[in-house]
Amino acid sequence: MRRNLTGGHTPRVSRSSRQIMDRNSPKIAVLGAGVIGLTVVKILQEELRHADVTVISEKFKEDTVSNVAAGIFRPGLSFRGPSYEVTKRWIDKSWYFWQDILKSRDADEAGVIPVSSYIFSKENYHVTRNRLIEDIVPIYRAVDKDELKLVSEGWKYGSYFTTVKTGCDRYLPWIQRTFESKGGKIINRNVDSFTSLPKYDLVFNCTGMGAKYLCKDDDLVPIRGQVFKVKAPWLKTAFYGDYDAYIIPGQDGIATLGGVRQYDSYNTQVCRHDAAAIMERCVDLLPALKNVEIVGQRVGLRPHRVPVRVESEMIDKLKVVHCYGHGGYGVMCAPGTAIDAVQIGLDLLRSSVRSKI
Ligand SMILES: Cc1cc2nc3c(=O)[nH]c(=O)nc-3n(C[C@H](O)[C@H](O)[C@H](O)COP(=O)(O)OP(=O)(O)OC[C@H]3O[C@@H](n4cnc5c(N)ncnc54)[C@H](O)[C@@H]3O)c2cc1C
Repeated sequence: MRRNLTGGHTPRVSRSSRQIMDRNSPKIAVLGAGVIGLTVVKILQEELRHADVTVISEKFKEDTVSNVAAGIFRPGLSFRGPSYEVTKRWIDKSWYFWQDILKSRDADEAGVIPVSSYIFSKENYHVTRNRLIEDIVPIYRAVDKDELKLVSEGWKYGSYFTTVKTGCDRYLPWIQRTFESKGGKIINRNVDSFTSLPKYDLVFNCTGMGAKYLCKDDDLVPIRGQVFKVKAPWLKTAFYGDYDAYIIPGQDGIATLGGVRQYDSYNTQVCRHDAAAIMERCVDLLPALKNVEIVGQRVGLRPHRVPVRVESEMIDKLKVVHCYGHGGYGVMCAPGTAIDAVQIGLDLLRSSVRSKI
């Protein structure tokens, strides 16, 4: 028996409601073509095969914040839903979503790969643990003394865990291709208000930092990040150290070195001081990176909000489902939140179909 894409964890609309909605071919718009918008699109097309779906976005693929991310599945405690239970459910559902892709023929094209990771600290044992994922990843354990020697000197604490990583350089084009091949439409434009949209039965708002202006949401704050993309085909393991240092391998031999977390900074330019500090910390962690070939530097503003906003709103009779504010964890947690957003949207459509019967 084929499990559904979330490993049987998705609440689904009843078949009869879905058939009624399918017959009616609802017109749906998804605003935003980052990892959140396109994951909503994927789930939506699977749940509602005959829906007329349009993605409306100002930026696509390599121009999105999603494309800056390394995309590793390792949440921090700043990723928060409205309660711990919801946060954990989003994380768990996301994990099974990525596992389903990982064991499919699409894994390579979708940019999903398994990654082994070490997280070390010179100062604090607790930062090497992660209670949000220790119960779902196959391995999460403390390192032994020999493993501390894998990196440079002076590291006192460490954990090893196995996880997954999604490279948006592949994932976004993969979803977009599949979406268009199933009849999905794409419009390239900026949306400055919900009321400026043509008539849709349902709109998903997945605009990341753009939601700050579209929704006048003061709770949405950027956390600026900056990374190097380097050529390191020999690197097969991820390493984390103190002060936001991380080294994450990727497909095509391109690794991501980071990083910084600058709260409320809107600077989208590469900062040479940040660059120097990032490189110094990464080489300090893994000396083999000295003089590594740099292929690019990227800056992205993580859309941070507590809690992440997954809820519906009626705006001038338009049914809107918001899904934004994932901070530094939007790649890994896109599926869990998108599943809930789609469920909320389908419930809204179902209730309006029922009221017409
Ligand atoms: C340096 C760095 C490292 C990261 N590492 C990781 C990691 O390892 N793991 C992880 O899970 N996450 C990571 N993240 C976080 C992750 O990148 C974000 O949480 C995620 O990309 C948010 O996705 P999004 O779709 O909401 O936003 P975006 O990718 O920004 O997409 C938003 C989309 O909406 C469109 N849009 C916005 N406003 C409008 C408008 N008014 N009209 C039309 N279109 C609009 C944009 O053009 C864009 O297409 C990292 C982020 C950074 C910066």
